[in-house]
Amino acid sequence: MSETPTTRRVYLETFGCQMNDYDTARMMRLLETAGYEKVELPKDADLILVNTCSVRDKAEQKALSRLGRLKSLRRTRPGILLGVTGCFAQREGEKFLRRMPYIDLILGTGAIERLPEHIRALECGRGPIVDIDLEPTPSPVTDFGRHLPGKGSSVAAFLTIMRGCDNYCAYCVVPYVRGPERSRPPDDILREARGLITQGAHELTLLGQNVNSYGRGLGDEIDFPRLLTMVHDLDGLTRLRFTTSHPKDLSDRLIDAFAKLPKLAPHLHLPVQAGSNQVLARMNRGYTVEQYLARVDALRAARPGIAVTTDILVGFPGETDDDFRQTCDLVESVRYSNAFSFRYSVRPGTAAAKWPDDVPDEQKIERLINLQARQQRITRELHREMVGGRVEVLVEREQTEPGLPRWSGKSGCYREVHFAGDDIGLGDMVTVEVERAFANHLEGRAAPTAPPVQRQ
Ligand code: SF4
Repeated sequence: MSETPTTRRVYLETFGCQMNDYDTARMMRLLETAGYEKVELPKDADLILVNTCSVRDKAEQKALSRLGRLKSLRRTRPGILLGVTGCFAQREGEKFLRRMPYIDLILGTGAIERLPEHIRALECGRGPIVDIDLEPTPSPVTDFGRHLPGKGSSVAAFLTIMRGCDNYCAYCVVPYVRGPERSRPPDDILREARGLITQGAHELTLLGQNVNSYGRGLGDEIDFPRLLTMVHDLDGLTRLRFTTSHPKDLSDRLIDAFAKLPKLAPHLHLPVQAGSNQVLARMNRGYTVEQYLARVDALRAARPGIAVTTDILVGFPGETDDDFRQTCDLVESVRYSNAFSFRYSVRPGTAAAKWPDDVPDEQKIERLINLQARQQRITRELHREMVGGRVEVLVEREQTEPGLPRWSGKSGCYREVHFAGDDIGLGDMVTVEVERAFANHLEGRAAPTAPPVQRQ
C-alpha cells in the first residue's frame, strides 16, 4: 500500500464575485487543516478546484472552457484530482459529470465544510462525488476568514456575515444556488473580525447578498446597523465597508450610520439595475426610481461627498427604447462614481427565464456601449474635480513597476490612488494631495502637512 505524502498541493481558481473569493479562501483554510499547501500553477498541483459563478451565461461558459483546458493535465499527471465548486456546480450538480466525466468532485455552495472529508474519500479512490446539499454542516474552523487572495496585501480583508438570499429578483439565480438567507450570529462575526485585525487587517468589508437585511431570524436584539456599530468599535480597525445593499432595505438607521460612524468609509454600492419603473417592477426589485433617488438624497445629506456605485442590467425582457432612455437619465442624474453594467442573459430556473428574451443581442450591446460611455465620462469628470483636493488612502501595496508612484491604495470613496511619499508603510492611512486624474485611478503625493497616521 502506498503511503500518502504528508503535504499535498492544491491549485484554486476563482470566477465571479467577492463571495466566491471568500469561499475560495475558506476552502483553502479547510484544506490546510487536511495537510494541503497552495501552489500557483495547476501543473504543480495534486488537487485543482475551480470555484465557478453562475450569475451570467458568460461566466459559466468561461468556467467550462477553463475546465476543458485543465483536462489535458490528466495526461501528464494521471493521479491529479479535479473539482468544481461554487454556484455553477450547485446549479448543474450531476449534469456536470455527464458533460465532463473526468471531473472527480462537484461541490455545491452549502457543502464547503464537507470538502476535507470528500477529498479524503477521493484520495482513497472513492469517486466521483457530487454534494449539492444546501444545508451546511457546522464548520470546524470558526475563524476561517483570511485576506483576499490576489489583493496583493494583507491590509484589507473580507468577512461574510450572511449567506443566501430571499429576494428572488426575476433575473437572478442566487436564491436557487446559494439557498435562503441565513445570518451568522454576531459573536461568531466579531470573533472572526478580531482574528483578521490581529492578523494585520486594517480594513474590513462585511459581505452578504443583501447585508441590509442581516439579522432576520436572530431575534430583536440584532440587525445590520447594530452589527455595523459593534464591528466599527473594535480596537485596531481603521476602516469599515460593506456590500451589497438592496435599496428596498436601506433603512434610515443605516443611512444614519454614515453620519455617526467615522470609520465607515464614505462609499455605498447600491445596485439600481434599471431606471424605469416598469422594468423594476418586472424585475421584482421592490422599489421605484423615485424611492431609490430619495435614498440617494438621504445618504448624501447624511455624509456629504459619499460616493455611490451601482449595478445595471440592460436588455431585460421587454426593455423598450424609452425604458433604456430612463436608465440613462438616472445615471446622469445620480452621477455614480462607478457603475458595473451587464447584458441580460437568461438564467435557467429564474422567473424571467419563462419570458421571451426579446431584446435582440445587437441592441443589448448597443445599449451597453452607450451606458458604459456615459459612465466613463462621468467617472472622468468626477476624477478631474478631485485634482487639487485631498483624499485619505489606506496603503495596500508598494509598487514594483518602474515609472509608477511608489504606493497604492484605496480612498474612502473606493478610488484607486497611486502616490509618492517617504516614511510610509503598508496599512498606514495617508492624506494624499491629488495631482492627476485618469479614467481608473488618481495620482498624487503624500501631503507634507499630514504625516501618516500609524496604527498603534
Ligand atoms: S437581491 Fe436580487 S439580485 Fe441580489 S442576490 Fe438576491 S435575488 Fe439576486
